[in-house]
Amino acid sequence: MEMTSSVPQPRTAAADTASATSNDILGAAPATVMPTYARQDVVFARGEGSWLVSTEGERYLDLASGVAVNVLGHAHPHLAAALKAQADLLWHTSNLYRVEGQERVAERLGRMTFAERVFFCNSGAEACEGAIKTARRYHYVNGKPERWRIVTFTGAFHGRTVTTLAAGGNPKYLEGFGPPADGFDHVPFGDHAALEAAIGPQTAAIMIEPVQGEGGARVVPDQCLKGLRDLCDERGLLLILDEVQTGLGRTGRLFAHEWAGIEPDIMAVAKGLGGGFPVGAVLATAEASKGMTAGTHGSTFGGNMLAMAVANAVLDVVSEPGFLTDVERKALRFKQSLEGLKDQFPDLIAEVRGRGLLIGLRLAPSVLPATLVKAALDERLLAVGAGDNVMRLLPPLNISDDEIAEAMSRLAQALARVKKTTG
Ligand SMILES: *Cc1c(COP(=O)(O)O)cnc(C)c1O
Repeated sequence: MEMTSSVPQPRTAAADTASATSNDILGAAPATVMPTYARQDVVFARGEGSWLVSTEGERYLDLASGVAVNVLGHAHPHLAAALKAQADLLWHTSNLYRVEGQERVAERLGRMTFAERVFFCNSGAEACEGAIKTARRYHYVNGKPERWRIVTFTGAFHGRTVTTLAAGGNPKYLEGFGPPADGFDHVPFGDHAALEAAIGPQTAAIMIEPVQGEGGARVVPDQCLKGLRDLCDERGLLLILDEVQTGLGRTGRLFAHEWAGIEPDIMAVAKGLGGGFPVGAVLATAEASKGMTAGTHGSTFGGNMLAMAVANAVLDVVSEPGFLTDVERKALRFKQSLEGLKDQFPDLIAEVRGRGLLIGLRLAPSVLPATLVKAALDERLLAVGAGDNVMRLLPPLNISDDEIAEAMSRLAQALARVKKTTG
């Protein structure tokens, strides 16, 4: 079969045991890693393209992509070469000095997007924090320090820091961490009247994901994004887009807001930007970022040489002619197959949604996403849960057509498993 010819040959379990420092790696998980995740009991030793190979030598088809991070799959030769070459030169100097890679990535992002200024950090939460700070500081230097509140939406996810948790407003994540950080006004997703009512003299910005990722692949209609842009312009507010999950081609455009034909003032980016290397960025117009002068913000690691070498390499690939058109084409393939599965399992799948290769299967109320994720894992297919009873499929953007077909057949098997157990 053509599909399997490019798949890495499994190493033997014995070989992996020999290279492991402790039997713990192959046995039950040791207790010393703080148990903040309900992890699947599998350890991956290596990857190639859309495939991961476990320490047991089992091959898994990866439609999780490290939660929308591995946009080019695993061990992409161009990314690996860029990282290795940089590793021999220089890793880190801090931001006390100019960093050539940052200047290059920022300049390229500037050419590809609305952005005129870019700040580099290490994660999505940090990018959102930086975006929030940029918006508040804008009004501060405009002589309106009272404008510091930010309107966000229910079901949003902006990260796990104290401030970004408050921005997201998910009560489950906030519980036990003291009073949520002040400064966020939450509006029900899609409620225009509530949005109008939430805007007041203290409002600095509206912050939104063009497609809610963790919230369950919920797409903000293009008309709504246009409406938000207009509203911000009318009221002198900044529009902050959180494209941490939707960016870097995930939806079939380099950034999801391009579908709506609008531009934000500030945008948070991370996940796909490093293709697996931790990196985040705050993108902004010169005007919106005019308060971010020397000393106002910083990050020790942000945009170091290794991160920038990989980000540059990711940009090389996603900006190749035809790359994004191909993402769109694959998304359509997925959608057609998944609608077929919905017809086949109408009592399990309630809705196929999302945009591009940020795909959500909203499940029937009787089926938990975790149940289907586990059944898929048993079929050696990786997927990710989400809010609103959704299971997400976040394939590498360079997944092949054969791999899509294989994924759909494994997913059908997983659904059959779940159907059997739910009666
Ligand atoms: C993942 C995510 C974040 C947080 O990113 P981290 O790198 O985990 O801090 C923020 N916003 C969105 C939309 C995300 O999907």
